[in-house]
Amino acid sequence: MKINVVNPLTKEQLYDIEPMQDKELKVVFDRAKVVQQKIAALTVKERVNEIVKISDYLIENHKIICDRVVSETGKTAFEALSNELFGICDTIDYYRDQAEKILKPQKVHTSMVLMGKKSRIEFDPMGTVLIIAPWNYPLIQCFVPSILAFLAGNAVVYKPSEITPLKGLYEEILDGAGFMKDAIQVVYGGKDTGAALIEQRPDKIHFTGSTRAGRQIMAAASKHLIPVDLELGGKDPAIVFEDVDIEKTANGLIWAAFTNAGQSCTSIERCYVHESIFDEMTKTIVALTKKLRVANHECEGCEADVGCMTADFQLKIVEAQLKDAIEKGAIIHCGGTTVKGTQIIPPTVVTHVTNEMDLLSEETFGPVLPLIKFSNEEEVIKMANDSEYGLSASVWSKDLKRADRVTAALKVGNVSINNHMLTEGNPALPFGGIKNSGFGRYKGDFGLHTFSNVKSIISGPNNKVIEPHWYPFTKSKSDTFPELMRAFFTRPRKWIKFALVGLKLDPMGTKEKIKI
Ligand code: NAD
Repeated sequence: MKINVVNPLTKEQLYDIEPMQDKELKVVFDRAKVVQQKIAALTVKERVNEIVKISDYLIENHKIICDRVVSETGKTAFEALSNELFGICDTIDYYRDQAEKILKPQKVHTSMVLMGKKSRIEFDPMGTVLIIAPWNYPLIQCFVPSILAFLAGNAVVYKPSEITPLKGLYEEILDGAGFMKDAIQVVYGGKDTGAALIEQRPDKIHFTGSTRAGRQIMAAASKHLIPVDLELGGKDPAIVFEDVDIEKTANGLIWAAFTNAGQSCTSIERCYVHESIFDEMTKTIVALTKKLRVANHECEGCEADVGCMTADFQLKIVEAQLKDAIEKGAIIHCGGTTVKGTQIIPPTVVTHVTNEMDLLSEETFGPVLPLIKFSNEEEVIKMANDSEYGLSASVWSKDLKRADRVTAALKVGNVSINNHMLTEGNPALPFGGIKNSGFGRYKGDFGLHTFSNVKSIISGPNNKVIEPHWYPFTKSKSDTFPELMRAFFTRPRKWIKFALVGLKLDPMGTKEKIKI
């Protein structure tokens, strides 16, 4: 069945996508297998040279690429540039210098009890990696995991969201950049196509999307024991202590709540503010929020700070959460009502919210900033951790010792201090969540290791020596092993005793070997 793609700001029908049939999917995977051999044969340096081409192309063609992203997501032009293109180029820039080091074989410690042996870890490609992405950041969610999987020596099959497929754009970028042919293939379609792709048995799945779909994908992958990374939803808390600079913090909070119209897995969805500054902070936040320029459906291309909602079904979720909150006593200070006939919700600040409201317990994924009072550190840690999600969080304070203490107590995968979602801005930091926000980490060293078969290797000489732990199991071996354990494993080690027992045990294997 054809899927219709719409410009969410103007409601203009853009084009249709026709999901691929199983037979065509098989061809894609067969092709991936062939090209993967070629990728694996490249040195890491040669793979780096390939990905740099993408960065160069994005910089040269940024305007036309951003326009496409804007037309399908409804985000602002600056967001397309700073949150997507910049992020991809920054990631490439990081791995350009780091990839060889991260993927090179690592020597590791070998215990004295394994005297004469050497140990190392090697990072082999896995094969074909399937990447399934959501609609909120369609470009960065394609290129960052694809680039990492490619650097680790894999072929990639990428399925964008059916809401923002950016049909043809990925191919245009890859071909235009002169990137290795077929190394990253794009398959368009909805969730049925995603499910059919899993049945092609990729060697690894990297999924970004909702917790609901994450569960389904893990269940499907489990049939074939395919490893999965799940980057799922969030309900990020921000904790604001009484000693903050009010103006700076308010500016940071509204950006982190409203950027991408709140459709970021790590946008602030619960903002806990110390009671002594609550009123002043609320006043400042509301005043700043009212100054933000909101997208205008009658003026495509006009400058704006906050775009529209990308998906109509997500808009309905936000509206329902706000209605439920108002019915239960929440107060809306600005925004709160969808512009008639559009997918635009002006940035919304809400107070008097409680955990009984969906607005505080469910993921909102819209431009809504709920402010909640707290009175002390212990209480706010409990409040922040009281969520099914555990993606990221932020702590705002001049007292960095306190910020570190609170950070240590937060049950999340990422924390920014005096900022929000900034861990995502540093490609050296691994990213991922816990609880219903999923598991697995990518970026940093993990970013390449997660797409590798981490192979452990131990190597020793092939001489006449027969190891004492091999057959036969004799009485003298059974008596000597405990002596060795006592000398070696109890601290401080008894080195002289260990050497003497070692000298006795080492030749025992050869002396007592099975006679033929
Ligand atoms: P979604 O889960 O509905 O869809 C994501 C992708 O999965 C789409 O490409 C979709 O076609 C595919 N899909 C859905 N069900 C599938 C199935 N059963 N089998 C195979 N493929 C399937 O999510 P969405 O609405 O596109 O995105 C919003 C969600 O993504 C939010 O919950 C948000 O928090 C989350 N997200 C998480 C991160 C992160 O890094 N943790 C980043 C961005 C977005």
